[in-house]
This record gives sequence, structure tokens and C-alpha cells, in this order.
Amino acid sequence: MSEETIFSKIIRQEIPAPLLYQDELVSAFRDISPRVSSHILIVPNKVIATINDVTVDDELTMGRMISVAKKLAKEEGIDETGYRLIINCNEDGGQEVFHIHMHLLGGQYLGPMLCLPTLSKKG
Ligand code: 5GP
Repeated sequence: MSEETIFSKIIRQEIPAPLLYQDELVSAFRDISPRVSSHILIVPNKVIATINDVTVDDELTMGRMISVAKKLAKEEGIDETGYRLIINCNEDGGQEVFHIHMHLLGGQYLGPMLCLPTLSKKG
């Protein structure tokens, strides 16, 4: 498995992107293409490609991602109005970057949980 992703470079600040949070396990920064007014990505510092690759050794990291989401939601001022946390997995989940990341989405009403495409992209 490659240890190099676009997110690794952001975490190491080889690609400039303001970090909203960083500790020994996770980092957080704004999505480059925000879908809503508050769209933050919370990412493990080590590359874990998908949720399918999570092991028991990653439980602290995965839990930390939730804690950081909670902290950032408060800082964004969306904790009371509400927000959504999403981790996409593989093709049907719509995953594009194979380095686990949790989307923190909020700042406006997000509507129903899922908006399914009319036609399957698999045809
Ligand atoms: P996925 O579809 O894999 O769950 O989400 C990947 C997300 O990463 C997308 O929302 C996309 O806009 C974001 N993204 C892709 N490349 C970059 C980048 O270079 N910088 C930042 N900040 N976000 C990125």
C-alpha cells in the first residue's frame, strides 16, 4: 500500500493548506471543493486506504477523528444547529481519495440523508 497520498502531503505541509487541527494521530483541513458552507476533512496522519483496512490498532485514531469533529463543529459554530459526518468507502460509497477521511459538513440544512442518482453509474 502506498504511503503517499495528496492528504499525506497536506499533513506534512508539503502542499500548503491551512491546518485547522493536528496532533500525533489526526489532522484536519478544509475541503478544497466545499459542498456546503462548512466542509472540513478529518484525516488520520498515517495512510489507511479505506474503512475496510481499519484494524483494532486504529481504534484510538478512529475515535480521535470523532472527538476532533466535535471540537471543530463547536469552533465552526455549527454544533447546536447540527452537522453530518461522512466516511465514504470504495466505488459505491463515492470514495475518491484512498486515505480515510471524515467529512464534517454543516452550516446549512443538509436535507435527507441520501440523494441517490437516478441511474446507476455502473450502467
Ligand atoms: P471522497 O469522495 O474521497 O470521500 O472525498 C474526497 C474529498 O477530498 C473531496 O471532497 C475533494 O474535494 C477533497 N480533495 C481532493 N483533493 C484535495 C486537496 O488537494 N486538498 C483538499 N483540501 N481537499 C481535497
